[in-house]
Amino acid sequence: MDELAVRLRRWFRRNRRDLPWRRTRDPYAILVSEFMLQQTRVAAVEGRYEAFRRRFPTVEALAEAGEDEVLALWSGLGYYRRARNLHAAARAIRDHHGGVVPGDAPALRELPGIGAYTAAAVASIAFGRPEALVDGNVARVLARIFRLKGDPRTGTAARRLREAADKLVPRDGTAGEWNEALMELGATICLPRRPRCDACPAARDCGGRREGRSEAYGGRAKSATSVPEVAVRIAIERGGRWLLRRNGPDERPAGMFEFPALGGIPSDAPLERVLRAAGRELGLELREARELGRVRHQIMNRAITVRVVAGFLSTELGASAQRMRRAQRGEFRWVRLSELGDLPVSAATLRAARLLTTRRAP
Ligand code: SF4
Repeated sequence: MDELAVRLRRWFRRNRRDLPWRRTRDPYAILVSEFMLQQTRVAAVEGRYEAFRRRFPTVEALAEAGEDEVLALWSGLGYYRRARNLHAAARAIRDHHGGVVPGDAPALRELPGIGAYTAAAVASIAFGRPEALVDGNVARVLARIFRLKGDPRTGTAARRLREAADKLVPRDGTAGEWNEALMELGATICLPRRPRCDACPAARDCGGRREGRSEAYGGRAKSATSVPEVAVRIAIERGGRWLLRRNGPDERPAGMFEFPALGGIPSDAPLERVLRAAGRELGLELREARELGRVRHQIMNRAITVRVVAGFLSTELGASAQRMRRAQRGEFRWVRLSELGDLPVSAATLRAARLLTTRRAP
């Protein structure tokens, strides 16, 4: 296995993707990237990470910020609880660790939102501690090399993978590079389907490849199928500003601004019915509604389609403001589309806003 380690590291140094969080060993930077990368694609994180780091370059800067600003910088990444947890972790580091990110996994796990995986990632990548990482990519690679059968996320297969990973992780201060190399191999070479074994530095050691059936190992059992949902949201304009409603603490995503949803009507309700529902729920008189299109997004196993309708006010807002206040529950705000970047808004809202700029009817 020593030879495998040498080959893998050599391959990684030559082939690793140049990602912004790989240009530093600053523990805070690694912490931010690991929170962002939880359940999110590298490409999506790349677009957000640098702006977040520019605005919050240190633990203190993040700890001092207000939650709205943190959420605004997280807009579009989804799973907003991560942003709140990262914010809370920064405050805990400021208050209990003198502003210095702790270097050992048990202390990291005491922080909000940090589980075994993130603790091991920060401890190994930023501090070189011998902590093994097993994400989906690493599990697939190891399962194929060692021909471990079963779903790598559960039961005996998960335990054996963990043991293999713990045994392999180097104890000479290079655990971070080893972990990153394994993850990179899974992300770019040892793909779920049609692994590129001819380009793989582990090919000589790989039991799956020797058997000629690599794809038989490391596959996940089929997860529960997505549950489809359709929601109707209405975008209403007044003087170049659009009405947004903030989700309450029990709504998902909590605390984020979205175009108001219209409940109590079928998702394919005709536009006259949408108009009536908007009047009833928002206290606004609308003269016309126009179909703008649909946006799709996924939250856990919910495949959500949002039908976006533009509504046009029939009266001056002043005349109906009182009625509107009576009808509306929650916090509402009239916002220019150019201001969306300063507010916590969901990814679905950003996509719906794009429909407004491309398909809005006069
Ligand atoms: S040889 Fe093929 S199956 Fe084995 S680790 Fe490399 S890419 Fe994966």
